[in-house]
Amino acid sequence: MTVEGTTIAPAHGGPELPQERRLVTEIPGPRSRELFARRQSAVPPGVSTTLPVFVTQAGGGVLVDVDGNSLIDFGSGIAVTSVGNSAPRVVERVQRQAADFTHTCFMVTPYESYVAVCEKLNALTPGDHEKRTFLVNSGAEAVENAIKVARHATGRPAVVVFDHGYHGRTLLTMTLTAKSMPYKHRFGPFAPEVYRVPLAYPFRWPTGPDNCADEAAAQAIDMINKQIGAENVAAVIIEPIAGEGGFVVPARGFLPKIAEFCKANGIVFVADEVQTGFARTGDLFACEDEGIVPDIICTAKGIAGGLPLAAVTGRAELLDAVHVGGLGGTYGGNPLACEAALGVLETIEQDKLVERAAHIGEIMLPRLRALQERFGIVGDVRGRGAMTAIELVTPGTKDPLPAGPIAARCHAEGLLVLTAGTYGNVLRFLPPLVIPDHLLEEGLSILERAVAAEAGV
Ligand SMILES: *Cc1c(COP(=O)(O)O)cnc(C)c1O
Repeated sequence: MTVEGTTIAPAHGGPELPQERRLVTEIPGPRSRELFARRQSAVPPGVSTTLPVFVTQAGGGVLVDVDGNSLIDFGSGIAVTSVGNSAPRVVERVQRQAADFTHTCFMVTPYESYVAVCEKLNALTPGDHEKRTFLVNSGAEAVENAIKVARHATGRPAVVVFDHGYHGRTLLTMTLTAKSMPYKHRFGPFAPEVYRVPLAYPFRWPTGPDNCADEAAAQAIDMINKQIGAENVAAVIIEPIAGEGGFVVPARGFLPKIAEFCKANGIVFVADEVQTGFARTGDLFACEDEGIVPDIICTAKGIAGGLPLAAVTGRAELLDAVHVGGLGGTYGGNPLACEAALGVLETIEQDKLVERAAHIGEIMLPRLRALQERFGIVGDVRGRGAMTAIELVTPGTKDPLPAGPIAARCHAEGLLVLTAGTYGNVLRFLPPLVIPDHLLEEGLSILERAVAAEAGV
């Protein structure tokens, strides 16, 4: 496989997947529409669909559908297939493992790959203190477990979260999540002892971006002190870049202030790096950008190339505090997923994907900023590395402009983009880190045309 080349050779030795956009039907095509009708009868609408094309193959920077269309992928299955779909080192390891054994339950009879993944995460996550890691199945499960550990270790009940935060869909994690529709609407009552404080959101900070970090941190800390009491807080949990909330990069200085406050008050600082982790932002973990060392870090999405895996990594004294049997799960750290994670980490290192993510940002951000110059509907451009976004507004205001119509134009042209944002007005871009440059450029050109058309220019 080459990043710069035009084909990706699948590990199974099958036909190479051309790295090209190719539209042979309208999007979605007739076979996808047929399958979607079946899906409508079998699967509830609550499980939503961004783009109803049914996929048969994917790799590098493309998704191929049942009608033979080849679409440019700016989504990576929501920041999951960062090393590419069916990445050769992942496929090879998973195939070998599947033939050897598929499950024993690590809590019943262990296997080496689980330990190897934990050793790697202990070594690679920020901070050189003694760490422990355990493995679960999803981002939400990692976040739930981080809170369990923090409460157990501190003996305190309260959890502090931020405006625009997203942490999952289980009862506790949807409670931690900020946005009502669609994540919380009519799903209450919610878990107790969860408190929300302001996030330093530069574009929407009332007094402007310059004082945003200081003012937001002061407000958050004041609320914790006055409304909750710092001594009652087990954990503060934050995404170093808010994902579903709209790729909000907190104003510089905000994260260090919050982390420092936690340290001074015996509060466990939890970084939810489920979306930002594994080279996505041009660092292996987004916390590294401001030198943040979390007490606990939650990872998932990019960890295993699409196999279900998530991890809780943290200070040894916190994780070791929990009694024997207090943590775990039947499938957590499944051997196929562990092998996949080892293949992902090898790929990131050997193919220099941290640098590659930074390179993607260097291509994307200037072109997105040029869009902002040309079109008043592009209110803000932000992100780092291969995690970038534009926030849409009514020109001359900060009134949110829905991102759906531009996304739909991109989809019709064979470019998969995702939306996000508390106000549904953010287009977010999460290409696989192995996408060839020419597809990145072509995707950006499609986006430019879509923005121009929507702006009526
Ligand atoms: C996706 C996500 C989660 C939830 O992960 P799941 O695997 O969907 O449970 C949690 N936190 C963040 C920041 C996420 O982006």
